Amino acid sequence: MKSKKSQNKGSRTPNLEDAREGVVISPLGVAVEVLFDDGERCQVRVKRKAGHVVGDRVSVVGEVLKRLPRRTELRRRDANGKTLLVGANLDVLGVVVAPLPPQPTGFVDRAIVAARAADLQPFLVANKCDMEDADGFVEAMRRTYGQSVDIFPLSARRKTNIEALLNFLAQGHRGAFVGTTGVGKSSLINAICPGIDLPVGELSDYGQGTHTTTVSTLHSLQGGGELIDTPGFRDFGLVDITVEELALHFPGFEDTTEHACRFRNCRHRSEPGCAVIELVHQEKIAEERYRTYLEILADVEASEEEQRRRGWKN
Ligand code: GDP
Ligand code: ZN
Repeated sequence: MKSKKSQNKGSRTPNLEDAREGVVISPLGVAVEVLFDDGERCQVRVKRKAGHVVGDRVSVVGEVLKRLPRRTELRRRDANGKTLLVGANLDVLGVVVAPLPPQPTGFVDRAIVAARAADLQPFLVANKCDMEDADGFVEAMRRTYGQSVDIFPLSARRKTNIEALLNFLAQGHRGAFVGTTGVGKSSLINAICPGIDLPVGELSDYGQGTHTTTVSTLHSLQGGGELIDTPGFRDFGLVDITVEELALHFPGFEDTTEHACRFRNCRHRSEPGCAVIELVHQEKIAEERYRTYLEILADVEASEEEQRRRGWKN
């Protein structure tokens, strides 16, 4: 509705008071689907390469859509090594794990580091808790990550224990899930967001199957909170992390923020005055965790070196 003031002006150019704000719930190439704050949903045309992503806040005046500054950006790398933006303004990232299939070494650590580096709060979903050996698995996850992140053990298939996760997301959180193929991400999304009805199973052919959605979408959860689902992202995972991010955000090294390393960009390998090494000596950081860190560090260094060699970075 127009205010008296703007009617009196009689101007034909859209007035700033007519600007409506909303969120992009689905980018569709030449248009974006916007959910306006007043509840109305409609498509607004945009330039094809405008780069709007799901979760973007926008302000629309007449036909003109303007993107508002982003709080956070979530990225992944595509098959050609190019970085793609998969979502904006997320608050949390759920790393889905299960007793089967096993996670590749370092997967959870890298995901936690990448989330923290992007200013997202990571959490773990330990799925398939209906499986026989699930207790030991959850126990191991708690031992390793319990001090660093929230852990939600549940069964997507049986829909058991999903309330705790729903309550967490309902605290106004916007989230997305990552995890390796087969851990049950589609099943989980179906369980917490009935109505989406994603295809489930090891054989579902992402990206090509006739029932497969390839469009990213923002879903509002019934009890509160939101979920961004970007099918490619779920399975490809996150962008590579940097050495600095790894050293700063590795789960289990949080204590070192209090007892800082002597050098600001310490890699915690052999530097003098390293707080991490000190905590390993004091057995406050488990040897095994430190070894995992060194393995990932060597990996990340190697891929940074490789990228530098190929000229992807300066
Ligand atoms: P995604 O590849 O991560 O999306 O995994 P899917 O949701 O497609 O599930 C992979 C397989 O794990 C399917 O056979 C599911 O039925 C199975 N699965 C998913 N959630 C559970 C669960 O909570 N318990 C058990 N036992 N199996 C599950
Ligand atoms: Zn150090």
